[in-house]
Amino acid sequence: MSVGTRYEERAAEWDKAGRDPFFLFGDPYEYVRLNLWMSTEGAQREGISPLLKDFRQASIDRLLTRYAADWMDDFCMQRGFCYRCDQRYKYENLSLCTRCDKTYCPSCRWRFEKAPNGNQLHDGCGGEIVG
Ligand SMILES: [Zn+2]
Ligand SMILES: [Zn+2]
Repeated sequence: MSVGTRYEERAAEWDKAGRDPFFLFGDPYEYVRLNLWMSTEGAQREGISPLLKDFRQASIDRLLTRYAADWMDDFCMQRGFCYRCDQRYKYENLSLCTRCDKTYCPSCRWRFEKAPNGNQLHDGCGGEIVG
């Protein structure tokens, strides 16, 4: 199942449950991954439903009720490292996998094979490298 299909299913679940906030992404990392994925060329090619866009909006609205409005800036200023070459980077300069917590630097991310939608596939876990 592609990353896009998984996201669409999650949004459909939320919709089916009468848009119950329980089904939204309550973890900032989940939201960041979805948001980054939606801005990839692969996602554009695969197509993003209006429902998934609503889901993203509802998720950020909910997160903003629980976190300060500048949480995204704080998140980007955090430091992480590349799982492949071990170099340290700010989060804003790293790409992340949509499924696991692994992050990669700009030169390592291009070494991954392509998913059918053209994004880089994280081999083994089925996620896509985004951001
Ligand atoms: Zn690297
Ligand atoms: Zn992964």
